[in-house]
Amino acid sequence: MTPHGIINTPAFIFCGTKASIKSLTPEQVKEANTQVILANTYHLMLQPGSEVVAKLGGLHQFMQWDGPMLTDSGGFQIFSLGYGAVADEIKGRNRTAARPAGRSFRKITEEGALFRSYIDGSRHLLTPERSIEIQSELGADLVVVLDECTPFHVDKRYTERSMHLSHRWGLRSLKRFEQLNDGRQALYGIVQGGVYPDLREISCEFVSQQPFFGNAIGGSLGASKSQMYEVVQMAMQKLDRSRPTHLLGIGGIADIFAGVAEGIDTFDCVHPTRIARHGGALVSRELRDTPAREHLNLNNARYKLDNEPIDQNCGCYTCQNFSRGYLHHLLKAKEILATSLLTIHNVFFMNELMQRIREAIAQNALDKLAKRY
Ligand SMILES: [Zn+2]
Repeated sequence: MTPHGIINTPAFIFCGTKASIKSLTPEQVKEANTQVILANTYHLMLQPGSEVVAKLGGLHQFMQWDGPMLTDSGGFQIFSLGYGAVADEIKGRNRTAARPAGRSFRKITEEGALFRSYIDGSRHLLTPERSIEIQSELGADLVVVLDECTPFHVDKRYTERSMHLSHRWGLRSLKRFEQLNDGRQALYGIVQGGVYPDLREISCEFVSQQPFFGNAIGGSLGASKSQMYEVVQMAMQKLDRSRPTHLLGIGGIADIFAGVAEGIDTFDCVHPTRIARHGGALVSRELRDTPAREHLNLNNARYKLDNEPIDQNCGCYTCQNFSRGYLHHLLKAKEILATSLLTIHNVFFMNELMQRIREAIAQNALDKLAKRY
């Protein structure tokens, strides 16, 4: 229960990266049954600046979303940019920047993370305290501690050092949070430790012992799906299960079923809204054109004369009104409506999936539902 409403779990949190679910109005987001969205501290601290958002009434008022909301710490974008790995929408921007990706973008010290703005190259220091202050100005219901996000290619010694740094940052985040919080925000601690069971155990103990509201599982979850499921299982066995637990950055359908089975309460990922912008429509198993992919690619010429909706059983605005052939045409003609219509479908699809999962849990029929997806 948040000051902006109840979140029925398990739930999917949609990425409103720069204070907008790309191509949708908040009304459309709500009409697609969305419970909760997130915004990225990293993007908003650089544009327009958290002080601007605060002056304009806080994030809920600013973007006209009156439901529950989460902000992240800003760490993920800084570190993924530094490592030159997948970093949301930043990567496209990177290619045109004068500086090569992955070089001298960031420096980690005990104090915090030093980085250059991807917008104008200006230098910024994000400390655990500063991240909490920014998130306090933004005013989301759920906020997250600053941690170092280690990529999967670093060794165990680095992962261990980094985990302890993240724990110290977690304590500093908590201290600043307790000074600032007026009872309208709740803080998540983050479990680190990469793929190493002994480190994950230490990190789970740390998070469980501190008075965080919720747990988040972060860091490297491994190089493969099976390794990710192992890491999640490992963490869930050690964490305080009376707290809500969030799995950071994971949102594939199969991954959600695996996470839910272990007791994960919330997920977030750019995937459903990002693939919509590239012509991808999420579908259940029987409608897939290839078993390896959880969505249809409507750019494909096979849909040119297809007069069926994406899914005739889907209740979303897009499926109620438009054919695959029309969506294919919009994509080919590069009409921006294609993005909105596909985003509406994918958001509706994810919310319906989570609702069915909640019902299946209540009826003890999760395995049966998983097979359909
Ligand atoms: Zn639909």
